[in-house]
Amino acid sequence: MKLVFATNNAHKLQEVRQILGECFELVGLSDIGCHEDIPETAETLEGNALQKARYVKEHYGLDCFADDTGLEVKALDGAPGVHTARFAELFGEGDTHDSNANMRLLLQKLEKKFDRSARFRTVIALIYKGEEQLFEGIVEGQILPERHGTEGFGYDPVFQPQGYDVTFAEMPAADKNAISHRGRATQKLAQFLLKG
Ligand code: IMP
Repeated sequence: MKLVFATNNAHKLQEVRQILGECFELVGLSDIGCHEDIPETAETLEGNALQKARYVKEHYGLDCFADDTGLEVKALDGAPGVHTARFAELFGEGDTHDSNANMRLLLQKLEKKFDRSARFRTVIALIYKGEEQLFEGIVEGQILPERHGTEGFGYDPVFQPQGYDVTFAEMPAADKNAISHRGRATQKLAQFLLKG
């Protein structure tokens, strides 16, 4: 059965393919000829994930799912949240997906804060057999005052998951995927799809 993952990220596509196995022919946006920028203008992760999935269903008529992730920092009242990818850009300090600028700004904002707890949250919106479903994955942790490690991407060098004494950027990819926000949301998606 053909299922679209509304992403252009080949790495994410491969990761989810491995979890879903061969029951689904998982394809990305470029595979269905979708090269436009799908709007992500909602104020929540749920809203953005649904917006992307509905766009693909409406324009291409295919069952699909889309994800959105945010870093929610307690001392910043849940920011950057839905603005995680463009945190620095919002403050005029970098471009969207500029990880260095994003981390610099985050560390600066936490300089005088005692509570450094944070979590990554991923929401996956699925449109399948005429119905919409949401799946959530969360990993709790804290923001370290300095960067550690070179693996991964985004905020990985400053995020230390609860129960570990290393950051995501110091963990092998397989270990990170087993406990990560995206890994957990994807596992829930897979359980749903594979059961019927
Ligand atoms: P997206 O919704 O997957 O594009 O994620 C939005 C932003 O969250 C990315 O641009 C990254 O800055 C950040 N992010 C998402 N997942 C991770 C992760 O696993 N590690 C570090 N940063 C992440």
